[in-house]
Amino acid sequence: MKQQEQEALLKELHMPEQINKPCQVEPVAESCPYCMSVLIVKNGHRKGTQRYKCKGCYKTFTNDTGTLDQGIHKRDLYEEYKKLMFEGYLPLKKMAEKIGISIQTAFDWRHKILCGMKDCGANFDGITEIDDVWFLYSQKGRKGLKYSRKRGGSKRQGDNNFQVKLLVTADRKSHRNLSVAKIGRITKADIERKIAGKFSEACTLVSDKHRSIAAFAKSQKIEHVSFKSSDHTAGGEYHVQNVNNMASRLKSIVNHRLRGVSTKYLQSYANWFELIEQGKQGQENKVLKSNSDVQAWNTFANVEKIYKQFIEKQSVRTYRCPTKQKSKSARVTQTHHSSNTYL
Ligand SMILES: [Zn+2]
Repeated sequence: MKQQEQEALLKELHMPEQINKPCQVEPVAESCPYCMSVLIVKNGHRKGTQRYKCKGCYKTFTNDTGTLDQGIHKRDLYEEYKKLMFEGYLPLKKMAEKIGISIQTAFDWRHKILCGMKDCGANFDGITEIDDVWFLYSQKGRKGLKYSRKRGGSKRQGDNNFQVKLLVTADRKSHRNLSVAKIGRITKADIERKIAGKFSEACTLVSDKHRSIAAFAKSQKIEHVSFKSSDHTAGGEYHVQNVNNMASRLKSIVNHRLRGVSTKYLQSYANWFELIEQGKQGQENKVLKSNSDVQAWNTFANVEKIYKQFIEKQSVRTYRCPTKQKSKSARVTQTHHSSNTYL
């Protein structure tokens, strides 16, 4: 054992809180996170961590490479930060101060955590409300744009190409889904991409008279009750007040509390809203994926790429690349379809 490791061991033995914890044996890596090759060899230790080398692409890595744990040196602070995320929408600066980290780290951690939100995977059951809410297209924070003064959009009313649409779906049994679906008018295909297959048989979809929703319900063979928006309800239990209420709270948080968020991160902030809501119901332990989740890392590492695809596929806008692009490496091979990430 190297002297460094000896010291680490001694330190651990002197910490009483460690004694009752189950002994954690580091798992042995099975494949290369860069090229998925299984031809890997152990390649010594660094700071007590086993390193590996891939015989296919010659890159070295550890067990943390390609997971949310990658690059986090202060795990205990990260866990503390996670707890803080459940408490409310604090500005980055305040969060950084509270935990004692830099603003850049606070920014990275915030988005790491939000990329690790579990898809509710709901089977909507019983009366299920659906509505869309729009946010102004925004390039807040994007540097190096030719027309950087005009980062905001147009305040024109009605469906237009500056409106980012977020679909809100919820049943009365607390299954919910908030998904950024489109810039511009929502179509049946957009709704299908986001929530098809998430409905149980005994489900009644309630919405205002939105043609795409009616078409969606028909194609999915879901019972559908609709009403004129000016009526606000189809009578009795058939209304969309719950999703309307959620949508307007989210809108007020994004537009007022956070003073607008960039479209690139809108889904993340919708996830934050959901995280806090679930936290209020004591569900803190159920909303986040484990740090070793590969898909969560994929989303985090590819956020710019995913945003680019979203702009190119789901809007008529032109994607503009910011001047500097940070590469976060590893596992860029696949992007999964999940409703709480874009696409
Ligand atoms: Zn490799």
